Amino acid sequence: MTKRVVIIGGGIAGMGVAHALKDKAGEAVDITVITKDTFYMTGPSRPLLLTNEQSYDRMIRGYEEAAMKGIKFVFGTVTRIDPANRFVEVKENPTRGTPTAEKIEYDYLVVAPGVVFDGSKIEGYREHWWRNATVYEPGRVDVLRHRIWTADKGTVIVYAPKQPYRCAPAPAETAMAIYTVLKHRGVVDNFRIIHVDANDKPQPPVIADVIKERYEQAGIELITSREIVEVGTDYVVLSDGEKLPYTILAMLEPNRAPRFIAEAGLGDNWFEVRSPQDLRSPKYDDVLAAGDAAKLPFPKNQEIAYESALFATNRLLEDLGLGVEPYSVQYAFLGWAYLGNLEGRLETESVQFGLNFTTKPPKPSKDPVPKREYTIQKDKWEQSYLNRLFHPKHD
Ligand SMILES: Cc1cc2nc3c(=O)[nH]c(=O)nc-3n(C[C@H](O)[C@H](O)[C@H](O)COP(=O)(O)OP(=O)(O)OC[C@H]3O[C@@H](n4cnc5c(N)ncnc54)[C@H](O)[C@@H]3O)c2cc1C
Repeated sequence: MTKRVVIIGGGIAGMGVAHALKDKAGEAVDITVITKDTFYMTGPSRPLLLTNEQSYDRMIRGYEEAAMKGIKFVFGTVTRIDPANRFVEVKENPTRGTPTAEKIEYDYLVVAPGVVFDGSKIEGYREHWWRNATVYEPGRVDVLRHRIWTADKGTVIVYAPKQPYRCAPAPAETAMAIYTVLKHRGVVDNFRIIHVDANDKPQPPVIADVIKERYEQAGIELITSREIVEVGTDYVVLSDGEKLPYTILAMLEPNRAPRFIAEAGLGDNWFEVRSPQDLRSPKYDDVLAAGDAAKLPFPKNQEIAYESALFATNRLLEDLGLGVEPYSVQYAFLGWAYLGNLEGRLETESVQFGLNFTTKPPKPSKDPVPKREYTIQKDKWEQSYLNRLFHPKHD
């Protein structure tokens, strides 16, 4: 009998499961992806919007070609999971008119909605949220771009919250992109750029030394092991009471999984899994997680999200008993962090690093010299994900 597989989230992990499962299970599964938006916008190259090296048309894809393959889509926001009765509730997406509070039943549920940026525990955040802009979301990244391309003097504060948060190097990428733009505009000497990090070093630790060296060359100040606990009109307060002024604030809020996961008893801040390889909820055999929403002992990034999607798919394939080969997958990746351009040319250089979690302790590697070619490699890597999981760029 055909099994109904419902996937929450049409991002890297959700679409990873949808394609991988469809490819191996074919007609044995009826796959429905429930996702908020009618399009997907990639994450990794968002910092390059600041330096005008990336454009939205290369970052956005639709779901039509995945639907052509037989994957079903519901565009709406999941508000509740009822794991005891095997259904999810979806609120309509105004542009696609699904009924409000539609109930969608499943035989298997994969929960892959990514993260929520939650500043609610920071004093003054609710009142002053609009003074802050980061590379993490469309819209806000444009605000940040506008601010760094128009300001002539001031203090920039970039902030990374405590791990785990999505994309470890993105705050350092932001600081270096801001430096590059200010240098390009010839105004960098009128600015203080401060990176405040709640962790004991800039993330990820494997490239902390490269980031620090780059910061020294760029004159960026680094403050570690302190959180931002308050945001005011033109200042932030750190956990040790120090008050820092800002004119431009790029503060990544602490991350967590969407609330409906905790409300369904599937985890606290993150979806609890049995192990990184067995992504089922410890409470329900038919509810699995994938991607950034899962509680994994690894960084939250696209490669790990995709690998977790393949592990989740393998578990589903085993359960379906179709006798097909599982996907060959392990937790290991090669990544690149944008580290700006010290001369102020709008040609970002990147550092390449790798982490292999199949060894104990995990094996880090890197080429410590930032290079232009790594930025180009990262672009190819990102486009290949978009081409595979969504569709090739149509010119
Ligand atoms: C600025 C930035 C830089 C990054 N840089 C890198 C990098 O250099 N390298 C790297 O490997 N990774 C990077 N990442 C991280 C990478 O994008 C994520 O780790 C990856 O997208 C996680 O996949 P996911 O499927 O868990 O989440 P996503 O890809 O975010 O997908 C989640 C989907 O679920 C949908 N959704 C959420 N809530 C609901 C709901 N209630 N109902 C319905 N749908 C919902 C969302 O709209 C979204 O489509 C970066 C991310 C950002 C934002």
